[in-house]
Amino acid sequence: TNHMNFLLPLTGSFAQPAAENPTVAMIEAAFAHHGLDWRYINVEVAPDDLGDAVRGARAMGWRGFNCSIPHKVAVIDHLDGLGKSAEIIGAVNTIVRDGDRLIGENTDGRGFVAALSEVVDPKGKSVVLFGAGGAARAVAVEMALAGVARITVVNRSAKRGQAVVDLLNDQTPTQAEYAPWTQTFSVPQDTDIVIHATSVGLYPDVEAMPDIDTDSLTPAMVVADGIHNPPLTRLLQAAEARGCQTVDGLGMLVQQGVIGIKYWTGVEADPQVMRQALLDLDL
Ligand code: NDP
Repeated sequence: TNHMNFLLPLTGSFAQPAAENPTVAMIEAAFAHHGLDWRYINVEVAPDDLGDAVRGARAMGWRGFNCSIPHKVAVIDHLDGLGKSAEIIGAVNTIVRDGDRLIGENTDGRGFVAALSEVVDPKGKSVVLFGAGGAARAVAVEMALAGVARITVVNRSAKRGQAVVDLLNDQTPTQAEYAPWTQTFSVPQDTDIVIHATSVGLYPDVEAMPDIDTDSLTPAMVVADGIHNPPLTRLLQAAEARGCQTVDGLGMLVQQGVIGIKYWTGVEADPQVMRQALLDLDL
C-alpha cells in the first residue's frame, strides 16, 4: 500500500472567544463515525484579523469553515457570494467552497427548523418568538420560509423587535407583528409554537428565567429553547411540567452541524452520534 495520502481536507471555525465553543467535538465525532479523514480546527480570530484569516483559509485550500461571534456579518465582505437565507438574514455562519469561490450560508435558522420538525411541522402554524438578536433573526426568517402562518416577535428593545418584523413582512410570505416585553408575557392560547431565542438563562447565568407566564403554556403548544448550555433550561423544565412537548438548543446546534458537514463533504451525518458527543462533554 504505497498510496498513502497525508494531506487531509481542512475545515474549522473562526470566532472570538473560541475556547468554550463545543462545535469541534461534535463535528469530529461525526467525521470519525463516518470514516471521513477530515479535520475541523477551532481557531480564535480577532475582528481585525478576519480578512487575513479568510485569505489564509483560501491559500491553504480549506474546504469550508464556520464563523461565529463576532464575525457573522463582517465575514460577508470577504466572500464571493451568499445563499438565499444568508442574504435575507444578512449574516453568515457557514462558508462553503465552490471551486475557487467561497459562498456564505446561514444554518442557524435551518438547524433550528430541522430540530423542531422532528416534533412538529411548522407549516401553517402560529408562532410566538422571544428575542430579536442574531439567532432570533435567523430562526424567524427560516420559520417564515418553512411556511408558518403568523409570527409574533416579543423583544425587550422595540427597535430590534420591529426590525425583525419588518424584515419578515417585506421579504417573506409570513404575517409578522411586534409585541412589547415590558411585563410578564402571557402566551396567547391560539399559539402553536413558542420559541425562546434570547440569551436569558445561558451559562453561567443558568438560574435566570425569561419573563414568561409559564401558566399560559398549554399541552397543545411546542416549546423550543435556543440555549444549548445548559440543554435543560428553567424554561424547558417549566414547559415540560405544563405538559408541553419541548425542543432543546442541542438539537439546533447538532442540526446546524449536520447541514455544514453535508455542504462540505456531501455526507449525511448521523445526528445521534453528534448529540451524544455533546452530551459526553457534560455541559
Ligand atoms: P444577540 O446578542 O444577538 O441577541 C440577544 C437577544 O437576547 C436580544 O433579543 C436581547 O434583547 C435579548 N436579551 C438579552 N438579555 C435580555 C434580558 N435580560 N431580558 C430580555 N431580553 C434579553 O445574541 P444571539 O441572538 O446571537 O444569541 C441568543 C441566544 O441564542 C444565545 O443564548 C445563544 O447561545 C443562542 N444560540 C444558540 C444556537 C444553537 O445552535 N443552539 C446558535 C446561535 C445562538 P434586546 O434586543 O432587547 O437587547
